[in-house]
Amino acid sequence: MSTAPETKRLALARAGVDRAAHHRFDEPWLAAAWSHPSTKVLPIAGGEVFVVDTETGSELVLLPSFEAPQTGDRYFLGTDEDGVSYFALAGESLPGRLDGDARPAGLREVGGTLSDRDAGLLVHAVALEHWHRLHSFCSRCGHRTEKAGAGHVRRCTSCAAEHYPRTDPAVIMLITDEEDRCLLGRQALWPEGRWSTLAGFVEPGESIEQAVVREVREEAGVRVGEVAYVASQPWPFPSSLMLGFVGKAAPGGTGITVDGEELSEARWFSRSELKAGMEAGEILPPSGISIARHLVELWYGEPLPAAARW
Ligand SMILES: [Zn+2]
Repeated sequence: MSTAPETKRLALARAGVDRAAHHRFDEPWLAAAWSHPSTKVLPIAGGEVFVVDTETGSELVLLPSFEAPQTGDRYFLGTDEDGVSYFALAGESLPGRLDGDARPAGLREVGGTLSDRDAGLLVHAVALEHWHRLHSFCSRCGHRTEKAGAGHVRRCTSCAAEHYPRTDPAVIMLITDEEDRCLLGRQALWPEGRWSTLAGFVEPGESIEQAVVREVREEAGVRVGEVAYVASQPWPFPSSLMLGFVGKAAPGGTGITVDGEELSEARWFSRSELKAGMEAGEILPPSGISIARHLVELWYGEPLPAAARW
């Protein structure tokens, strides 16, 4: 196990815009920023935005505010080093009029092909939009809430309680045994041949290291000894923060017993077994933007072949 794994920039953990949170409650500043001609607006509906495909990837379609719909919820996303302000504009549907080659797309599809700036804007907007959609009512008193803080708070219209966007921590881990084989599992609903690292949500009152040990034991029956944190990235499908770990199975604890609920199968793979399976098309590696893929590549020692879409 590498205890100080080299890290690369994960696809959804990139940004090019300062969130400038100090402006979120400054209504005059926000109004001036919205109407400034340099301001860029990202329409979003149901997690989808408009993109255009380029030779090297894709770009978000960002509108000047005077071309953007005047209805919808505005979320202030931040400012860049040139002083340009960015807003998401959440509506029931995307604006009808499309220029040229623009097409609707979601974060899962284009998250890995956008620039740092666009990836950061989109992951922020997707996470906020989903949170607003599901938090119309106060969890304290049941009355309606309304948007505040330029989209980063919801405030109860009755008891004035303030509610903040929710992020659910989840651990994801690559476990190795004494032969440096890695533990991968598959869920019954996944496409045939899809294998990935184990993962699960952190429970109340639990540290993330404890969650790693518990989840691996529950899902695969394997006992984990030491664990080391690697990296994190937001995974707003709908609201997770993936915390990536590597870990070692405890001596004598490598026997596999799958729970049959979260996992239908789990196996120890050597590098040569994984390589042969991928080359034969029998094993599909985790998707390109996932932290699972990053963890497997850290262990494998080189980039995996391009992932099939799933
Ligand atoms: Zn309330």
